[in-house]
Amino acid sequence: MSDIAMMQECPRLAVLRKIEPMSDEAVTMQNYERILKRQLTLQRGHWLEDGIANSFYANGFKVIPQLELSIMLGKKQDIPVKVHFDFVLVGTTQTGDGNTGGNGESSVRVLELKSTANISNTPTKLHEMQVQGQVSLLSKCAHLPMFNLRDAHGNELRKNMTFVEICKNYLGVTVNAIKEIKDWILCVSMNEAKAFGEYFPSDWFADLCADTAQEQWKIMQKYRQKHSKNSSYSIPHAKGFCLLCSFCEYANILTPINKS
Ligand code: SF4
Repeated sequence: MSDIAMMQECPRLAVLRKIEPMSDEAVTMQNYERILKRQLTLQRGHWLEDGIANSFYANGFKVIPQLELSIMLGKKQDIPVKVHFDFVLVGTTQTGDGNTGGNGESSVRVLELKSTANISNTPTKLHEMQVQGQVSLLSKCAHLPMFNLRDAHGNELRKNMTFVEICKNYLGVTVNAIKEIKDWILCVSMNEAKAFGEYFPSDWFADLCADTAQEQWKIMQKYRQKHSKNSSYSIPHAKGFCLLCSFCEYANILTPINKS
């Protein structure tokens, strides 16, 4: 889903990350500080994710961590797309006799965790696109057997289940009807946390995800067929100021003609 969101900002970066991922640099005395800094930033996200999960468990929330939706998109339904959800919380309303989990309707809340050094006042367009797509596809596919669960080491816990089956099988929660699904971006730094939302499902966004996946697939196929040293220049790219350029691992090799 993050690739699909990135396609809206810079198709070239989204495509290159898929077909020409940068291999890790060998650590040397010259670059170790930069590599360590980057690793600490990456690991900080994992540490915070564990911390947030533990705080949900400690407070008795029914939460599914690391849910995966594996779906085929595109006109011929032949483009594989995986959507990852950091946390999905399921709340079931009480029945008339006061019992929970019986005939009640369920509310579903998705949280996309973003770890940052400093929290800004507004979410980025890229993150907003990602959660809009997430919540729209979750809503559209909730009753299809396309959901998987893995543990922290990547081992498969559940496979090819509907969302409702995962709720029953993993959480022990009976979901008879889904009342509403909403998504939030939860930005967390070492000192504070801020949630941005709410984001609601939309058919328009689900269609946009399918069209964008189709477009990315098409560019990737074309690029693979006509691969040559400079062929990535032909891939459409972000115009004008783009926040991604400051973090882009391809910026140096594409400069100066990447903005041509
Ligand atoms: S440097 Fe900027 S425009 Fe070029 S590929 Fe990276 S993100 Fe896209």
